[in-house]
Amino acid sequence: MTVESLSYAIDDQDRLIKVDEGYYLFAEENGWDEAGSSLGRSLWDFVAGNEMKKVQRLLLRRIRDDVREVELPFRCDGPDVRREMQIRIVSHSSGRTVLFAARLNSEERRNGSQPVLDPLAPRGDDALAMCGWCDRFEVNGEWVEVEEAAKRLELFRRNEMPELDHGICPVCSKLLLSA
Ligand SMILES: [Zn+2]
Repeated sequence: MTVESLSYAIDDQDRLIKVDEGYYLFAEENGWDEAGSSLGRSLWDFVAGNEMKKVQRLLLRRIRDDVREVELPFRCDGPDVRREMQIRIVSHSSGRTVLFAARLNSEERRNGSQPVLDPLAPRGDDALAMCGWCDRFEVNGEWVEVEEAAKRLELFRRNEMPELDHGICPVCSKLLLSA
């Protein structure tokens, strides 16, 4: 059986406050036994890697404070499947609750002989330049907000988050120099 969609919500402290049936089914399908105790736990318990956490935290902040809604492609592979998914992340204007709704775009069985790292995933060889002042990222010479960078570089479809190279963008550099 394949789960086509799942959703969950976090409160203002990033704790899981609601998960739907699809969430539990998805967890079951992936042999993840702890799903039953998800409620009340921090979202960050489920995110691996410091760079990934950092980028996702920035994204959440942008969604809560500014853009309200973002839709992105992401990969969520299981033990023997490769999954391409789409996630919609929405923040309601009242309060800081954020809702995540994911749906499956495609799923492919992986047999044992195939490499775990997907050669078709966007490459993440180069470090990703990030401005430490405005939290924007450089994509092909242009400085853009995190949600735009995530879209253009397909950050959440990669096997690995690129390393973040902390620096300063031209706009902030100019502001600082003229201050
Ligand atoms: Zn900047």
